[in-house]
Amino acid sequence: MKPGLVIVGASLAGLRSAEAARMHGFHGSITVVGEEPDWPYERPELSKGFLSRHLDGPHPGPGALDPADLELRRATFGPDDQIEWLLGHRAEKLDVENHEVVLDRGKSLPFSMAVVVATGASARRMPAFEKQTGTHVLRSLADARSLRSDLVPGARLVVVGAGFIGCEVAASAVRRGVEVTIVEPLAQPLVRGLGPELGGHIVELHRRHGVTVKLGTSIVEVVGDVRPEEVVCSDGERIPVDVVVFGVGAEPNTAWLSGSGLTLENGVVCDEYCRAAPDVTAVGDVSRFFHAGTTH
Ligand SMILES: Cc1cc2nc3c(=O)[nH]c(=O)nc-3n(C[C@H](O)[C@H](O)[C@H](O)COP(=O)(O)OP(=O)(O)OC[C@H]3O[C@@H](n4cnc5c(N)ncnc54)[C@H](O)[C@@H]3O)c2cc1C
Repeated sequence: MKPGLVIVGASLAGLRSAEAARMHGFHGSITVVGEEPDWPYERPELSKGFLSRHLDGPHPGPGALDPADLELRRATFGPDDQIEWLLGHRAEKLDVENHEVVLDRGKSLPFSMAVVVATGASARRMPAFEKQTGTHVLRSLADARSLRSDLVPGARLVVVGAGFIGCEVAASAVRRGVEVTIVEPLAQPLVRGLGPELGGHIVELHRRHGVTVKLGTSIVEVVGDVRPEEVVCSDGERIPVDVVVFGVGAEPNTAWLSGSGLTLENGVVCDEYCRAAPDVTAVGDVSRFFHAGTTH
């Protein structure tokens, strides 16, 4: 039987959409499709408690977290809540007119009523600088596991970008005994979000904790055959390095929607109710919804 509602993306927005449908009296069947194999988890912790956990020894640092601690709690709707979770499956295409989502390996998932697009965002990549093992981005639990295993005490880390993710990774890495340098092309960190004054305080805070912060500098090369060995900066400095993290923003996951007829402009463009088209709603980081209080 066709599910009434298909939700694509099994993270915060997908989980909460399924719960909201039930709470608002939707009794039909719901299928949630998610590319990641893990149960929806607290992504914000990946750069904080999860990353600052000490690698060795029986006693993790204060605030340290394991993957099981990250799982998002789910409201229960009785034994028969008819929410099916298709984890580890990627949606490849949306056919709005025929009410169908096409999954990986060509499997068709038709729905009778509506689809919710909750596919979030991915870390922006810098492929020219990501050739060696030991270069990372941070968006998923898999990314965080891989990065955490590289952040051993004494390792030398360069964080490219002093946005929220870059600043949080730097702070967590320092707690693990890693030697950290942040390289940021702008004159202050987080300047777009917080302005120059708060940015200045954040630089001071990092420096007090032993982080080297290079502002107004970009990277021009990551040298190394197998692992990164040096980061070459635009001011000519060559920073010896073992690990590089790129924290240079995120991009909405809309590639699978190309050809769907939805308006895709840095996200799925929606009205003030997150409606993208008849029977199609987009929520969370992938949604670019109209808000009367803003101009974008
Ligand atoms: C390290 C880090 C720290 C953060 N810290 C904070 C914070 O402190 N405060 C804050 O407010 N926000 C923070 N955020 C942002 C917050 O995590 C996001 O706003 C939130 O996760 C958005 O939820 P979402 O469900 O819309 O998208 P996502 O969490 O991105 O989930 C989208 C899901 O859809 C899946 N997916 C994508 N494409 C497909 C497809 N084609 N088929 C099937 N599944 C697909 C993805 O694999 C993913 O599981 C942080 C993010 C990160 C990465």
